[in-house]
Amino acid sequence: MKRAIVVGSGPSGSTVARLLARSGKYHVIVLEKGRNYFTGLGTKRVGNLFANDEIGWESRRSPIRQDPFLEPRSFRTSPGAGKRTYVGDVNNLPTAVGGGTIHYDAKARRFREVDFITNTLFGGTPDKPAIPGTSYADWAMEYRHIEPFYAVMEEIVGVQGPAKRVGRRVVNPNPYESWRSTPYAMPPGVAQLNSLLPAEAANRLGYHSAPVPTAVNSRPYRGRPACVDCGFCLSYGCPSNAKGGGVWQLQDALRTGRAELRSEVNVIRVEHAKARGKYRATGVTYMTPDGKKHTEKADLVILANSPIEAARLSFVSGIGNAHPNEKSIKKAQPVDTDPSGMLGRNLMFHLQTIVLSLRSAETSTW
Ligand SMILES: Cc1cc2nc3c(=O)[nH]c(=O)nc-3n(C[C@H](O)[C@H](O)[C@H](O)COP(=O)(O)OP(=O)(O)OC[C@H]3O[C@@H](n4cnc5c(N)ncnc54)[C@H](O)[C@@H]3O)c2cc1C
Ligand code: SF4
Repeated sequence: MKRAIVVGSGPSGSTVARLLARSGKYHVIVLEKGRNYFTGLGTKRVGNLFANDEIGWESRRSPIRQDPFLEPRSFRTSPGAGKRTYVGDVNNLPTAVGGGTIHYDAKARRFREVDFITNTLFGGTPDKPAIPGTSYADWAMEYRHIEPFYAVMEEIVGVQGPAKRVGRRVVNPNPYESWRSTPYAMPPGVAQLNSLLPAEAANRLGYHSAPVPTAVNSRPYRGRPACVDCGFCLSYGCPSNAKGGGVWQLQDALRTGRAELRSEVNVIRVEHAKARGKYRATGVTYMTPDGKKHTEKADLVILANSPIEAARLSFVSGIGNAHPNEKSIKKAQPVDTDPSGMLGRNLMFHLQTIVLSLRSAETSTW
C-alpha cells in the first residue's frame, strides 16, 4: 500500500485524507501542529473538551490559535520598508486538530455563477486584468463545472438551507444563490437570534432575507446531534459536536483503519529530490514537543497547512523562489522547483461584512 502524508488537519487536509483513506490505496498519516481537543477520534464515541468559556477560549490567548510568542509573524508595509515593520500577532492562524473549522461560524455559501467570471464582467481580459497592476483573473472553471462537487461536499459536511426538491426541480427561496442540482442536506434550523432583527428590517425595506446555508446540524446527522443554539459558534469549538468541519472528514478517514493522526507535531521541512528532470516530494521532517526531529518518507505529500504556511514551509525547504526580484514583482519568476513561479503569490483575503441593528425603545416588543 502507498503512503501519503497530509500536513494539517483543517478541512482541506482532512478532506484529502478521507478521500485517500477511502480509496483503499493509501495509508494516510495526518500531521497536525496544534492540540487535539477531541476524545475518541477514530472510535464510535467522539467527545470533546470545548466549553462556552469566554475567558478561557476568547479573552485570554485562545488555545486554538497560533501562539504569537512561540511563532511570531511579521509584517511590512512595502518592500522599501526593510525586512519587517512589526513582529508579533499578525492575522494569527488556526492551530488545532480540525483547523479553522473548529472556531468558524460555519457559513457555507457557494460562489455564484458571476463570481467565477468577474474579470470579464468588469471589462478585463486574460492579458489586461480589470484591476491594473494585479494578476486579477477569471477562475479556470465555471460554476457549472464545480456544482456537482459543491453538492457532494454539502452532503459530506452536512449543510442546512432552505432549498427543496419539487418534482424534478430544486426550488430555492434564496434569490441570492445560483441554481442547484440538489437540496441541502438538512432543512434550516431555528434562526440565529441576532439575525431576526436585521432580517425584519431588510424585509420592511423590500429586500428578501433568507437563511444563510450553514454547516451546522439542524437535526441529528451522520451520527452527530442537532445544534442546541448555545450561541457560542464563532471563536469557539462546539461542545455538542453539532458543527460541521474538517474534523468529521478526519473522523471518516480514521474510521477506515487506513489513516492515523499525529497531533502536536510541527512539520519543519518538506524533503524532496530530483528524478528524471523533475522534483518530487519524498517525505517530511517534523519536530515533536520534546524537541526531537523525525523524518517520515511517503509516496505522496500534501501540504494543507493553510496557503500562508504551505508557502512558507515550501520556501524554508528550498522549494520555490523565496527571494524574487522585488523590482519586477509583477512578473512570475520561475525556478527549477517551481516552474510556474507562482508559489506564494496572489494572496487574497475575503471582505468581512458586518451588520449592526438597533431596535428603538418605542417600537420594541422584546
Ligand atoms: C474566526 C473564523 C471564522 C470563519 N468563518 C468561516 C465561515 O463562516 N465560513 C467559511 O466557509 N469559512 C470560514 N472561515 C475560514 C475557514 O475556517 C478556512 O477557510 C478553512 O479553515 C481553511 O482550511 P484549511 O484546511 O486550508 O486550513 P486551516 O483550517 O487553517 O488548517 C491548517 C492546519 O494546518 C496546521 N499546520 C500549519 N502549519 C503546520 C505545520 N508546519 N505542521 C503541522 N501542521 C501545521 C494548523 O495547525 C491547522 O490546523 C473562518 C475562519 C476563521 C478563523
Ligand atoms: S451547539 Fe450550535 S450554536 Fe452552539 S457551538 Fe454548536 S453549532 Fe454553534
